[in-house]
Amino acid sequence: MKHILIIYTGGTIGMEIDAQSGALTPFSLESLLSQIPELADVEANISTHSFDTPIDSANASADFWISIGEVVLNNKEHFDAFIVLHGTDTMAFSATACSFMLQGLQKPIIFTGSQLPISTPNADAKRNFLGALQLLIDTNGDMAHFKEVGIYFNQKLFRATRATKIHTSSFEAFGSPNSPLLVDNEKINSELFLNGHNGFNYNSTFLKEGISVITWHPLIGEAEFKALLNEETKVLIIQSYGSGTLPLNSRSWLTKLLQKISENGGVIINKTQCFRGGVDQGMYETSNKLNEIGVISSKDMTLESVIVKAAWLYPQKPNVLEFKQAFLKDYCGEMD
Ligand code: ASP
Repeated sequence: MKHILIIYTGGTIGMEIDAQSGALTPFSLESLLSQIPELADVEANISTHSFDTPIDSANASADFWISIGEVVLNNKEHFDAFIVLHGTDTMAFSATACSFMLQGLQKPIIFTGSQLPISTPNADAKRNFLGALQLLIDTNGDMAHFKEVGIYFNQKLFRATRATKIHTSSFEAFGSPNSPLLVDNEKINSELFLNGHNGFNYNSTFLKEGISVITWHPLIGEAEFKALLNEETKVLIIQSYGSGTLPLNSRSWLTKLLQKISENGGVIINKTQCFRGGVDQGMYETSNKLNEIGVISSKDMTLESVIVKAAWLYPQKPNVLEFKQAFLKDYCGEMD
């Protein structure tokens, strides 16, 4: 029988209404598990690890990602697979961070959670939890080849580095805009699973501050743009239009500012605002200049992957040219 570790970090799945405030608050793992009697019949050896203080994932930080990574690291010899119970709001960030931190682990890690607390009638909590568990138990079939980090939600398994939260309340909470589903209901697309690795190499050093994300829009002015940057900004991610365009012909101050940041060794990354598709820097005159300035294309990555990858690479490659080369490499299926 498989040995599976359930790591409980918090999130709506285990929340209950606080009598005083009336707001949903993370509760204990014991309380959560007591509502899933089906666990007794699951054909696996299940152990649990609860974070001391389960959180609403809005409170997550790089240190929180590292804590999840460490639980997996410290237990990797004793377990065949891991389930991380996590809030949906920042699940894609934490799962992506685990993908980068734990490359080459060669064991499945599935993040899941729910839109409604487990105690709510007809909640998605039990279905998501037991569905994720079932995928991990079914290791004789195609799922035996799944050895990466995924997000399981509403009967779908997404690659962590490709997933993003797409709905505030629907059970269809996640999407994978630029990448096919790894599992869709009963259908396991094992030909898409990541394979090939260069050995396990745990690296949990992240840039913990200094990443700015600015969404460009037609009414943004020089003063607002500058106010969003400061001397601590090490990585600037600009959410551009379409295939990666910015109004460089009509705002010379923007060209000059980006040139200055780049000359001073700052990293600038171009991320499209579009939900689907990727950046094609140079397709238009209004994006070709970005190549000359040294702006890095994030291709078709999710915003979560762009932020986490930049935070993970920066301490390893503080030199902008080395960073650029590394950023354009695919590490864990995050880009095409
Ligand atoms: N605010 C919650 C969280 O991310 C939402 C959820 O779990 O669905 O922790």
